[in-house]
Amino acid sequence: MFRVICHLDMDAFYASVEQRDKPALRGRPVIVGAPPTQRGVVAAASYEARKFSVRSAMPSVTAGRLCPQGVFVRPRMDRYKEESGLIRQLMAETGAVIEPMSIDEAYLDLSARCQAEDADASLVQCVPFARQLKERIRSERGLTATIGIAANKLLAKIASDFQKPDGLTVVSEREKVQFLRPLPVRVLYGVGQVTEQVLQRVGIRTVGDLQDYGGDLRALVGSFGPKLKQFALGEDERPLELGEEVKSISGEETFLRDTDDRGVLRACLRAQAADIAATLKRRHLAAHTIQVKVRYGDFTTLTRQLTVEEPIAEARDIYRLACFLLGRDRLVRRPLRLLGLGVSNLREPTTQQLVLL
Ligand SMILES: [Mg+2]
Repeated sequence: MFRVICHLDMDAFYASVEQRDKPALRGRPVIVGAPPTQRGVVAAASYEARKFSVRSAMPSVTAGRLCPQGVFVRPRMDRYKEESGLIRQLMAETGAVIEPMSIDEAYLDLSARCQAEDADASLVQCVPFARQLKERIRSERGLTATIGIAANKLLAKIASDFQKPDGLTVVSEREKVQFLRPLPVRVLYGVGQVTEQVLQRVGIRTVGDLQDYGGDLRALVGSFGPKLKQFALGEDERPLELGEEVKSISGEETFLRDTDDRGVLRACLRAQAADIAATLKRRHLAAHTIQVKVRYGDFTTLTRQLTVEEPIAEARDIYRLACFLLGRDRLVRRPLRLLGLGVSNLREPTTQQLVLL
């Protein structure tokens, strides 16, 4: 199975929403944030304002000085959140597994839809999907997005930063090492200001310098060393992590009369496990953690959980682990008022399961 990951990043998101909603702002240096007469900061700046070196998180006073003709508008977070949800919906319609990163950024895993004879051909297969998504965001939402396509998250993110706005960049497996060479080390995931300075002290400035470095990176950056070397070579196995809206799936049932009848409890767990499995399947997810919850007649509530290395998605496995938890900790020594079952620590299914979907 070849991995096909897109990183989608909306272009100057807040400012672009403002410019779309208020045509008078188009083409003008829009600064979203408190006006310069007030103590406040810049939340976002349009490309026109960025030309004047206006950046988010900068004090509004500074922005006003750098860009006297700047048009300050108050942030409308509710509006941006609503827009973000609509764009998320367009992303979901590609059939991708999605990891939202922020209000205007997400990773999309399109591996299930793009499988060709080799890794790079699979990436090429993804290009029409990415084009179509960009086009829908333009025509249906009146906004532009930049997309990077690569075989992992690290490269997809770097690819989307490479050409903005309205860009589409593919970093192939064949060219990734060369592509990364001239870029500053700062582009690599996990390299912040501190690590950058440490590396600069020994003359490492570009990713190419890192690729060529013969010494032990552990001596410079500790346990991050081996991972950093892998990143420098464009290798990254990090899976997509799923967003807040699907952090867990659970169900619970309150009984009409407190019960310790094994048959009743088993039937209840079996039904809950079936519901959870159906939801997991619909969302193309699997779970690492199973949790049971019991409440007794006196409202004492206990939860017990178990985390497994291989994520599970089948009803019978969820049911089996739930029974195990109840038995292990002898939770049914007294009649139950409520019994609940849930899963969390959700992942996209492992490669093999995806193939079967
Ligand atoms: Mg953005």
